Amino acid sequence: MFAPRSAYLHIPFCHRRCFYCDFAVVPLGDRAGASAGEPGAASIAAYLELLHREIASTPGGPPLSTVYLGGGTPSLLNPDQVDGLLGQLRQRYGLAPGCEITLELDPASFDEARLSGYLEAGVNRVSLGGQSFDDSVLASLGRRHRRHDLLQAITWLTTARERHALRSWSLDLIQAIPAVPGASAPPGLAAWQAQLQQAIDTGAPHLSVYELTLEPDTVFGKRSQRGQLQLPDDDLAADQLELTSATLRAGGYGRYEVSNYALPGHASRHNRVYWSGADWWAFGLGATSCLGGQRLARPRTRAAYATWVEQQAPHPDADTPTSRLPLDERLLVGLRRREGVVLASLLAQAGLAQGASLLGQLWQALQGERDAGLLLLEGNRWRLSDPAGLGLSNAVLRSLLRALGPVGSEPTAAGLQAPEP
Ligand code: SF4
Repeated sequence: MFAPRSAYLHIPFCHRRCFYCDFAVVPLGDRAGASAGEPGAASIAAYLELLHREIASTPGGPPLSTVYLGGGTPSLLNPDQVDGLLGQLRQRYGLAPGCEITLELDPASFDEARLSGYLEAGVNRVSLGGQSFDDSVLASLGRRHRRHDLLQAITWLTTARERHALRSWSLDLIQAIPAVPGASAPPGLAAWQAQLQQAIDTGAPHLSVYELTLEPDTVFGKRSQRGQLQLPDDDLAADQLELTSATLRAGGYGRYEVSNYALPGHASRHNRVYWSGADWWAFGLGATSCLGGQRLARPRTRAAYATWVEQQAPHPDADTPTSRLPLDERLLVGLRRREGVVLASLLAQAGLAQGASLLGQLWQALQGERDAGLLLLEGNRWRLSDPAGLGLSNAVLRSLLRALGPVGSEPTAAGLQAPEP
């Protein structure tokens, strides 16, 4: 019997695909909506039927403490559809008192009445995909919304929070963006500082600040391969990262993960589940669950997902090939958290010989990172310093995995590859 306390539901529909996005997404067009007669409504309804079937096919479990509806653009669903999904989770597992229920919202895809409907359905936390306050940047990223949409959405969220109808909300920003068309260089530090200040001024209780990464099969990836994308150089990207940490700290935000900052009491409980190594349910196209330490990735296309749901009985996670979370990923997610990792436990979970001698050898091998003040040992926890270590998390991780290769006694250790930044 599995006992996850968290569930992720993937809603893959978007109006259009942003230029940097390689998520499992189904673009429906700028006029799409979930209500009868709107373009895309039939696709959304058919997908929700599959999602309900997948949830119904699980064996159930204890009440959920966190639920996250992500995507994609979940705000393409109408409140009744969100209510239906939450109702099924209630029926299947129950929702624990105080359950954190997060819905990702895209500015310009909802209005105040729709927000009220989501909150009445049980949503109590919102993640708003703002990305930038600058219209030229939003256009250059391929986003559909503009600054005025974002400011309007923030006003509605703020009002809802003042009415105590919304517990918390988060704003996403993207840093290290390329030069916008017509500009001679990527936005510099002053422009980034202005973005951060505007984010603080919104009063958002939580900020997620992601560094843009280039994926090969995206518009940006292809432009880059053709030499048509001017990205910030490493120094500027690193300076932006450092500026983010310093500015948000001065604004009262605590950094609890490489990309996540929160006012006291507003850290995302759901995200912490992913980073802690606990189990979670996941439902929907492209979603990955983790049950009994085994991960299961669902197919990324609608047709393949539909076939997969048809073929699962009675429990979708029972008979499908799964993969255990590899050590490099455990280290990556663990070291990205402010509290770091208990390395001895991770090595033991990965089946590697543990003990003082292995940890001692690793500690010796990472002297450069320690001397540079990037890596700290506090009690039995290995953690990265803030901002220097967290800003160079991938580099430190690569060094750690390089060191682990020769000293680990199991063959899996030697084959580990550090993820690319
Ligand atoms: S709105 Fe989000 S999920 Fe949809 S295409 Fe853009 S980045 Fe991807």
